[in-house]
Amino acid sequence: MTREEAIRKIEDLKATLWENSRRYYVDNAPVISDYDYDQMMKALERIEAEFPDLITPDSPTQRVGSDLENQAGEGRVNAESGIRKEFAQYPHRYPMLSLSNTYSIDEVEAFAQRADKILETSFTYCCELKFDGTAICLNYRAGKLFRALTRGDGVVGDDVTENVKRIANIPQQLKGDYPADLEIRGEILMPYDAFDRLNKEREENEEAPFANPRNAASGSLKLLDPEEVAHRGLWCTLYHIPSDSGVTFETHDEALSAAARWGLPVSDQRRICHSIQEVEEYISYWDTERKKLPFATDGCVIKVNEMAYQRALGYTAKSPRWAVAFKFKAERALTRLNSIDYQVGRTGAVTPVANLEPVLLAGTVVKRASLNNEDQMNLLDIRVGDYVYVEKGGEIIPKITGVELTKRPAELKRPSFPTVCPDCGSPLVREEDEAKWFCVNSEACPKQIQGRLVHFLGRKAMNVIAGEATIEQMYEMNLVKTPADLYDLTKAQLMSMEGWKEKSAQRFLSSIEESKAVPFERVLFALGIRFVGETTAKEIAAHFGDIDSVMNATFEQMLEVKDVGEIIARSVVDFFSDERHRFEIERLKAHGLIFVSKKKEAPASLALEGKVIVISGNFSISRDAMKELITMHGGKNSSSISGKTTYLLAGSKPGPEKIKKAGELGVQIIDEAEFMKLLPQSEAPVDQPVELDLFNQPEEPEYHQDADGSLLLF
Ligand code: NAD
Repeated sequence: MTREEAIRKIEDLKATLWENSRRYYVDNAPVISDYDYDQMMKALERIEAEFPDLITPDSPTQRVGSDLENQAGEGRVNAESGIRKEFAQYPHRYPMLSLSNTYSIDEVEAFAQRADKILETSFTYCCELKFDGTAICLNYRAGKLFRALTRGDGVVGDDVTENVKRIANIPQQLKGDYPADLEIRGEILMPYDAFDRLNKEREENEEAPFANPRNAASGSLKLLDPEEVAHRGLWCTLYHIPSDSGVTFETHDEALSAAARWGLPVSDQRRICHSIQEVEEYISYWDTERKKLPFATDGCVIKVNEMAYQRALGYTAKSPRWAVAFKFKAERALTRLNSIDYQVGRTGAVTPVANLEPVLLAGTVVKRASLNNEDQMNLLDIRVGDYVYVEKGGEIIPKITGVELTKRPAELKRPSFPTVCPDCGSPLVREEDEAKWFCVNSEACPKQIQGRLVHFLGRKAMNVIAGEATIEQMYEMNLVKTPADLYDLTKAQLMSMEGWKEKSAQRFLSSIEESKAVPFERVLFALGIRFVGETTAKEIAAHFGDIDSVMNATFEQMLEVKDVGEIIARSVVDFFSDERHRFEIERLKAHGLIFVSKKKEAPASLALEGKVIVISGNFSISRDAMKELITMHGGKNSSSISGKTTYLLAGSKPGPEKIKKAGELGVQIIDEAEFMKLLPQSEAPVDQPVELDLFNQPEEPEYHQDADGSLLLF
């Protein structure tokens, strides 16, 4: 390669790597595989090795990928001025580095030989799993969790302490003989079950699913609402105490054992190996066993165990020389395709779904997989009876990525895609620019009607306690067809349904009543307009302020909304040009649903004007409804207690940390009854007491558990 070619190639690779690094670390939405990213990085390393004078400090080979919003070339974040508005940023006491990685056992052997050569003495390895999450640095002072920082750009990290406090297995207080000032690092993970639940929820809300548990963990850690973080089910494992952080140990393994004694979550899947053969055994053992773990791992980390030798080996600019990561390629499984179902969604889209011979993949038993659409089936040239490769990718539903043609029996025939709706028998149509076939009978197709009602009542929409089975039952009994029908239901009608008693009927009605306090943006989202997800609904609601303006907006006016392009604008305008939809809105209005955004709505009173209130614990109404009440009366909600907080409003089981902090800062603590007294009389709690914890009860399961305990993903 000539020098000119090298310059061009380096610039190309750098730009592509930084771009993908941003997508991965900041947007949490990678578009290429880790393997492809790593191969590009290796290519850059090779060219830079040939032309060392072309290496610049901003090269991705010289710096860790950054999760801070301003990336390389845009200037370092100033810890004091905190350029990012969402999180304060603090410098790391010791840089947080990456790990050199490889997909080849030969390179692991080369790593061992290099260490042998430099150390000239025998040493041991501490082998660990490589947890596939996002790195975290915890600082405990006097045994208390003081600060949690993300890796950031390795030098400065985002302060995510409040969020980390919501992660169940991270102790806020250490026990035993812990050091006064402890820095410990590890990984925040999202276990598969939490990941599947989250992505299912996102798909239902027409939000892009997270590509993998790593991205979901990283995105969740940066949420602005700590309560939402608590809901995400994150989990932590710790694996590194920087050697000069105030405590001294002979070995890395001893340091981790001490951390476990102090009550910190440390993996017991590590093993001390005395030779490279033992290291290889460890890797090959976990290559298969890791599939049974409830969380994602993407390899093994091999570390020199003795601290003195770690110090002797030192660091490069980007990673320690005393450790290497061996990475596994993406997981896939081979299994038999038993049959194909065609499922109709709430928009009428027909999705082919493969029924598979059950197979273990990335922690769950997979029995069904999406085939996406007819084109995908043709591309794969798939036939019932084929052996197929299944991968867990971006979607909650695993994907079929290939057919093993060598295992195909001779007599198999190509399946033919249905021409009529499998649910209502109407002809299917496929528009030119659509990948899917659609049932056009949107007003009468039972599956579409039920799908829309389920969406309307969903947690992110009207948040009414009712699942698919309930809706199906109501529909079958001719009680509901459109959302407004739900508000006409009587107790007697509900009690006429099989299995329903007075208590369940009352609970449903209370939940329906509560939904009338749901803000406009969520009502708009609940309507299920195609392409209008949670975020778009928020933008549209904020832009127009009330439903009449939305309904009367022209296509051009709709395009003025942030992030609304032609497809969304057309979909919204078409939706409201349908008289039936307008009539439905009038009925919902008459039932008292909110169709005006908060900014336009006059506050109910100014009783709480200037008051900053933090709520904690459970109340006789949902936490969301309580927050709503605060803003309705001119108050401000805040998630953390500071000198500016007026009241800590404590329900049952408030957070002990919050109570303590309120005490320290002299913030007045009030209970629900005292709070209600602050409001004008008419706002006193609803006449009949609503069952406590109504909204904290688990929703109807979104997953179906088979008798053998395996997960059916939809
Ligand atoms: P990495 O994930 O390859 O390895 C380093 C990280 O491993 C550490 O920071 C730590 O967080 C983690 N880790 C997990 N278990 C550990 C253990 N037991 N001991 C020590 N560390 C452990 O490195 P990275 O710098 O976080 O990310 C770089 C990698 O990210 C790339 O190699 C690539 O695979 C991926 N990436 C992918 C894209 C993409 O577009 N697909 C873009 C950027 C980066």
